[in-house]
Amino acid sequence: MTKRVVLIGHPVAHSLSGAMQQAAFDSLGIDAAYELWDKAPIELTDAIGELRGDGFLGANVTIPHKERVVPLMDRITEEAHATGAVNTITREGKRLVGHNTDVPGFKVALDKLVGKQKMPRHAVLLGAGGGARAVVHGLITEGFQRIIVFNRHLHRAEGLVKHFGRSASHMELRAMPWHESIIEAELSKTKILINATSIGLTTDESPIPAEILNSDLMVLDLIYAQTRLQSDAKAAGAAVSDGEAMLLHQGAASFTLWTGQPAPLDVMGAALATARAGGLRSAEGEPTGEPVAVEPAVEAAAGDAG
Ligand code: NDP
Repeated sequence: MTKRVVLIGHPVAHSLSGAMQQAAFDSLGIDAAYELWDKAPIELTDAIGELRGDGFLGANVTIPHKERVVPLMDRITEEAHATGAVNTITREGKRLVGHNTDVPGFKVALDKLVGKQKMPRHAVLLGAGGGARAVVHGLITEGFQRIIVFNRHLHRAEGLVKHFGRSASHMELRAMPWHESIIEAELSKTKILINATSIGLTTDESPIPAEILNSDLMVLDLIYAQTRLQSDAKAAGAAVSDGEAMLLHQGAASFTLWTGQPAPLDVMGAALATARAGGLRSAEGEPTGEPVAVEPAVEAAAGDAG
């Protein structure tokens, strides 16, 4: 019987993940179909309940549900616990396990950007949403000693810092107000700049002015389209990567969790490129809006994390 893997989001009409994962199943002869489930928040609990059936290998979860599904899991991994978000679900019998593969996806993207150079220890991060949480956890576990977070709404950046309080107790993780002069001062002290805002996704805007970029920077933009920030950073002589490697490697990690097999990266990368050329955008491409309040039940589930 064909096994099912579903992407649960709202909206999910166009998904790069679908093209990438189906190509991977087909290339390895795995009898599985990747389906898109557009579920409004009110339908989420029932949708997750369905996944307990034998016909499912698991699921991906995307905006706006990554945080909401946490209390619906029977167990969550350390990365899902640390970020407070689940983007991949696997089954252990009838039990559901929540994972966060954005974290390993980000780490691969960062490694590729830094290349053979020594991994820096300081980073400036723009944004404080779900993507930013995966970035912060990745940077902390990579051994960064100083991470400065700028966000339009400062309280959200402060919430992020508080969330990581314990795991960042040995290093400096700070939220700072979004002022160009402060960002410029911080950029002069760092080599790594990460954009985890959605600015530039649908418009030709950059989160920061071109003049404050410099050639010493390595810039990782989580957005996987060409953006103004990326072109400004290249023009300034900086090393630049977009979000494609993160998207590919989070997908590869999910594939391995569902199937137990190494992901066919070449096949997935080619499918991603074809889908992008055809104008598809990932469901990840839509900003999620306001953060979801974390229910007390999340903490209970988190305490059970394995
Ligand atoms: P969220 O909606 O959770 O966060 C959006 C962030 O963008 C917030 O920090 C928000 O600030 C900021 N923002 C949005 N609009 C503006 C604006 N006009 N001015 C200033 N700040 C703004 O989204 P995610 O964290 O899930 O995603 C963020 C980006 O990262 C998206 O573009 C997404 O495509 C990308 N991403 C890529 C991944 C990959 O695999 N490559 C994985 C995950 C995300 P505020 O809090 O003040 O509203």
